[in-house]
Amino acid sequence: MTNKLKYFIGNWKMFGDIGSFKIIYKINQFSSKYRKLYKIKIVLCVPNTLIYFFKKKLKSKHLSLGVQNCHYHQESGPFTGSISATMLKNAGAEYVILGHSENRSEGETNNLIRKKITSALNQKLNVIFCIGETYKEKNKGNTFSILRKQIKNSLKKNFSLNKIIFAYEPVWAIGTNKIPKIKELKNTIKFIKNEFKKIFKTKKSAIVLYGGSVNPKNICLFSSISEIDGFLIGGASQSSKKFIDIIKNYYK
Ligand code: PEP
Repeated sequence: MTNKLKYFIGNWKMFGDIGSFKIIYKINQFSSKYRKLYKIKIVLCVPNTLIYFFKKKLKSKHLSLGVQNCHYHQESGPFTGSISATMLKNAGAEYVILGHSENRSEGETNNLIRKKITSALNQKLNVIFCIGETYKEKNKGNTFSILRKQIKNSLKKNFSLNKIIFAYEPVWAIGTNKIPKIKELKNTIKFIKNEFKKIFKTKKSAIVLYGGSVNPKNICLFSSISEIDGFLIGGASQSSKKFIDIIKNYYK
């Protein structure tokens, strides 16, 4: 196990209220101690209704806060029910998840995701950019071509690429308790990193997380894949115990 920086990012999805601050509090306590032992970065992406309150209450450098989507339009405008990157940044968000398959399944295209990323980067938000294939696409052997298309069509060469973290999330693994075979996952992470270098003609390595049904039990399986830079954790991040156990078990 190297001591390379690893990200543990929680995606709370549609979960939480003001009382859920206790989860953040416990994870923050844990982070303040564990960061002395290992190079970890913890981010919790919470609903828009909570970001301002949590940010004000937290006042900590051991944990960062983010949100889970933004509108493509930069600031304010006639977009009923939508929230812009500027508003989220002003409310305290440092990170934003974009391209999540739960939003893609409601019609979000690569083109729209690109516009949202543009907006988020203009506000200097860090983007957690989700990509991944469906079960059908995997079975047809199309995983790599789908990933390539998602990367090429959602990112532009002039983006601040150092503000983008990739999250490889096979759609069939999200919330299903299914995870990819370790060898296959290693190859896919390598593919994303190579593709990034090719498309953007850079020697810099992309940061690539894995997401999909990560839990305190299966996390040990991923420790052997040195190419993984961390994890995007959905359901299990709604419990401080599960989230903390994932991190502890990863380093066991
Ligand atoms: C997610 O929502 O990004 C995710 C990975 O969910 P889960 O961990 O619940 O599969």
